[in-house]
Amino acid sequence: MSPDSYLVAVEAPLDGLTYLPPADGAQFTRGQSVVVPLGKRRAHGVIVRPVTKPPPGEYELKHIFASDPERPPIPAAYMDWLEWLAQYYVYPLGQIVESVFPPLAKESKRGGRKGPVVKETLALYPAPKLTADQRRVIDAIESEKGFAVHLLHGVTGSGKTEVYLQLLEDVLRQGKQALVLVPEISLTPQLIDRFSRRFPGMVAVLHSHLTPREKTDQWWGMVTGQKKILIGARSALFCPLPDPGIVILDEEHEPSYKQDEKLKYHARDAAIVLAKNLKVPIVLGSATPSLESWNNAESGRYRIHTMAQRVNAREMPEITVVDLREQIRVRKDKPSELPHWLSDTLYAELQHVFAKKEQAALFLNRRGVAQAANCKLCGFAPECPNCSVTLTVHARSHLVCHFCDYTEKMSEVCPNCREGSLEPLGLGTEKLETDMAALFPAIRIARADRDEVQSREELESLIRSVEDGEVDLLIGTQMIAKGLDFPKLNLVGLVLADLGFHWPDFRASERSFQLLTQVSGRSGRQSSGRVVIQTYDTEHASIRFTVSGDFKGFCDQEMSERRELNYPPAWRMAMLRIQGPEATVTKDAARRLVQRARHLQSQNPAYAEALLILGPAPAPLLKLRGQYRYQVMVKCDSSQRLGAFCRQLMTPGSWLPPKTKVQVDIDPFQML
Ligand code: ADP
Ligand code: ZN
Repeated sequence: MSPDSYLVAVEAPLDGLTYLPPADGAQFTRGQSVVVPLGKRRAHGVIVRPVTKPPPGEYELKHIFASDPERPPIPAAYMDWLEWLAQYYVYPLGQIVESVFPPLAKESKRGGRKGPVVKETLALYPAPKLTADQRRVIDAIESEKGFAVHLLHGVTGSGKTEVYLQLLEDVLRQGKQALVLVPEISLTPQLIDRFSRRFPGMVAVLHSHLTPREKTDQWWGMVTGQKKILIGARSALFCPLPDPGIVILDEEHEPSYKQDEKLKYHARDAAIVLAKNLKVPIVLGSATPSLESWNNAESGRYRIHTMAQRVNAREMPEITVVDLREQIRVRKDKPSELPHWLSDTLYAELQHVFAKKEQAALFLNRRGVAQAANCKLCGFAPECPNCSVTLTVHARSHLVCHFCDYTEKMSEVCPNCREGSLEPLGLGTEKLETDMAALFPAIRIARADRDEVQSREELESLIRSVEDGEVDLLIGTQMIAKGLDFPKLNLVGLVLADLGFHWPDFRASERSFQLLTQVSGRSGRQSSGRVVIQTYDTEHASIRFTVSGDFKGFCDQEMSERRELNYPPAWRMAMLRIQGPEATVTKDAARRLVQRARHLQSQNPAYAEALLILGPAPAPLLKLRGQYRYQVMVKCDSSQRLGAFCRQLMTPGSWLPPKTKVQVDIDPFQML
């Protein structure tokens, strides 16, 4: 029996629209691309499933024009995955399916090319003899057939990339394809060259800096099976591979895997569901796995593989922690010529490295505009009594919690030691550069931060100049500096580790620990390296566990705090963001949303104990691009329950004032 109509995903804020078959009676299967009328225009659409014709309503159903010869059908595993994305992230399917396709038609005129996306003329790079550690991990991963999640926890320089390359070789030998996901910032020519030297002619690349033509060509290379390995940033997930055998996701802890706009998906979680649908293994690699993944490994949902040694037994760098409070006390009695941010210890190490003509890097963690206050003498930073996050300074006069709206006056004298003064933290990379140039006039300095390095080309030329030894000192924000691999970099100084501790985010400690460990790992890639961490808070967990290299110890402590406060991964979280052009209207809408949420909770016993609704609170960035922003946080003991609750809450209704919008962010990373 032929279906009397189809649900078609079209670009509209809906899961799909119902269409009648074309006049010629042609039939379609799930995943097939079609052309349909949408309003007054012709639009692309994808068949979701046959449906029975709804009873005659207010509007007349339209007919599908025809199948779309330009676009191949979406494989079933990908269709299931797209529907999962729509459901899980509470986002219209119609606005997701378009991401599967390349921006241009297959054959359209060329142009806009800057050179080959993947260089094919490089010298071959033969596989080294694997270490025993690498062999053990590869054998363990390959012994399990079908879907499984493997967490590869290997210290920086332990040879994880080499493990990926060997796994890829084995998958290719079976005639299958592979997907390799890396954070956008690591997708450098260094990395692409390493893969294409090993697998000449087989690598395709997808990232946001390609032209539409380049993206289209790379996409077709994979979809036709001509290319075998797709390396890409998170959006490469959407390229429908006809015959994949493995998914690899490097630096799995990287927050940039979470997309913060439109479809707010997490590429790691989405990749796991995709691998499950494809019935293939997925390997997550990191030197500092996320607490989410670590927790899943501990509970047995993921297989854990550990590589604790650097290749060829190169030593891990030696870490010295400098107590800045002590430094201030010393300099009170004996004033110093050095800038206030530079300790005697770090200064001595810098002199030493420059004398030996080696390279050094100074990193400063500077993240956005929200600022914590901290006592210059005792290191105390005021926290919210309800939320266990650091309070943020507003107008230099108040301290505010961005989760629950708790507010207090900022006292001038530290309430903890009653001696030092409470001041906003703040120091820029520009200042470091001027100070260093004055102290060491002969050295060559390069600065790498978001202001200085705006494009991928600039980042690449900076990397090259450090590699070629044209730079003695690299000054940058940690965000940009991690992932880089410089053989002659033998000293890393973390100027003020504290800036990461007091970010208004329940992941602040975890992020600090990851950054400290990752950045420390930059030092001494080829010979023994040194790391100097300057801080006002030597007892902070992220420092203690970085110094002892005790990853498990950190996770255990952090996990118990998350459990206590029902934060992920103990519980799950959704952030509801309300924004609008008028402050009072938006705030009012946020209050009404909370009322609706509480009402919904009271209606369903399943939500009673299992769900916490917090807020509304002003977002840390209350006004952004002319919009006032409020947020409501929902914590829940299960992701299914949380999803169901959010979908119910977000059913369209007339309660929302005009021009005001609500967005749901499931498993949020961005707390601003
Ligand atoms: P990770 O990805 O864990 O940081 P890499 O795979 O980049 O580690 O390896 C670190 C360094 O060691 C690289 O320079 C790499 O070429 C080298 N290396 C990796 N595995 C081997 C091996 N089996 N034999 C020799 N050198 C290796
Ligand atoms: Zn609070």
